[in-house]
Amino acid sequence: MADWLIVGAGFTGATLAERIAKRLGQSVHILDQRPHLGGNAYDYLNSAGIRVHKYGPHLFHTNSKKIWDYVQAFSKWTPYTHHVLAKIDQNLAPVPFNFNTIEALLPASQAQALIARLETHFPKDARIAVLSLRQHEDAQLRAFGDFVYEKLFAHYTMKQWGLSPDELAASVTARVPVLMGRDNRYFQDRYQALPADGYTSMFENMLRHPKIKLSLNVDYHSLAKSELAPKIIYTGPIDRYFDYCFGPLPYRSLNFVEEITTGAPQAAGTINYPGKEPFTRVTEMTLLTGAVGDRLTRIREFPQAHLPGVNEPYYPIPRAETAALYQKYAALARKTKGTYFCGRLANYRYYNMDQAIAAALTLFQRRILRGG
Ligand SMILES: Cc1cc2nc3c(=O)[nH]c(=O)nc-3n(C[C@H](O)[C@H](O)[C@H](O)COP(=O)(O)OP(=O)(O)OC[C@H]3O[C@@H](n4cnc5c(N)ncnc54)[C@H](O)[C@@H]3O)c2cc1C
Repeated sequence: MADWLIVGAGFTGATLAERIAKRLGQSVHILDQRPHLGGNAYDYLNSAGIRVHKYGPHLFHTNSKKIWDYVQAFSKWTPYTHHVLAKIDQNLAPVPFNFNTIEALLPASQAQALIARLETHFPKDARIAVLSLRQHEDAQLRAFGDFVYEKLFAHYTMKQWGLSPDELAASVTARVPVLMGRDNRYFQDRYQALPADGYTSMFENMLRHPKIKLSLNVDYHSLAKSELAPKIIYTGPIDRYFDYCFGPLPYRSLNFVEEITTGAPQAAGTINYPGKEPFTRVTEMTLLTGAVGDRLTRIREFPQAHLPGVNEPYYPIPRAETAALYQKYAALARKTKGTYFCGRLANYRYYNMDQAIAAALTLFQRRILRGG
């Protein structure tokens, strides 16, 4: 029996396994119910030889030097700046919405007048939430806020969540930014890159240690008591751990459709479809992970309801009642001695990869190292 059992070999589980084996010198058995490691960041070479992110495009970006330094140990990194365009009324316009977007969508004289008005009201390069534009005292800026909301956000949100924006936490609408400048980059973080040999190879490097044993295709809930360890880290769904005793925590799921094709790549890494199409976005993997000959691979994302046991739980639904339901499970987790709950499913929270690593490192430093 190992000193530790870690459930889930995604970023959270792999970071903790690596730290416990290397820093504490203790043995770890890490398992995953899937046939591969890497969690949602898992990638593979498809039949065209192109590296594909199985669970949707994963762009690594962080402002944290600490996290950036940490991931250097496991992979070389290829700088990659992600660009997104949105198909709006037959035009392709940059996202996040910025001055270039305005020029792509409006007649030149109207666009210049609007940009001048925005420049008098907001500092250069500020990120203004669409909600504050919609509530602005200036009627023209309010109308602009409504325009952005309608064109980019309202239908997209309905598709993405299966709910209207009013049914989601206000923080979701508040987060949609309009940039008072011309920065077309999708992320503004200081560090933006992709692992040169892919995430899967990076995870193999993280877990390559004599004190770490990896088991795949093993569901934690099928283990006998004798197969457990004195200390457990659980990164799976918290509601399942407690046998859904308060009812299931709702998630949104996605169907990823992979298309191998030839010809010219699409105009940006990702194109968003905020209109009536049944899909939300199409990503040209070839632009992210490199071309092989003249073949391309695109991933088209179709949002769908999450059915436990049928499809994957991807996005926690951001609503007040789901947060309250999670808190009931979190209270049970706090009373469960010897088991730590960490990660996007155990914390019922959307984490970017850098945030998942940061949460795991914090757990390690604040509690595991101190034996708490
Ligand atoms: C569509 C999509 C796109 C994303 N794009 C980005 C992006 O561009 N940039 C970014 O920074 N982040 C992105 N993310 C977020 C990223 O996927 C997460 O930050 C990361 O997956 C969190 O890692 P984790 O280990 O907490 O969870 P996961 O990666 O989900 O790992 C949890 C693992 O636990 C396993 N598990 C669960 N239950 C059990 C059980 N009972 N027994 C055994 N194993 C179990 C699961 O199989 C899974 O492999 C994206 C997420 C989604 C859904």
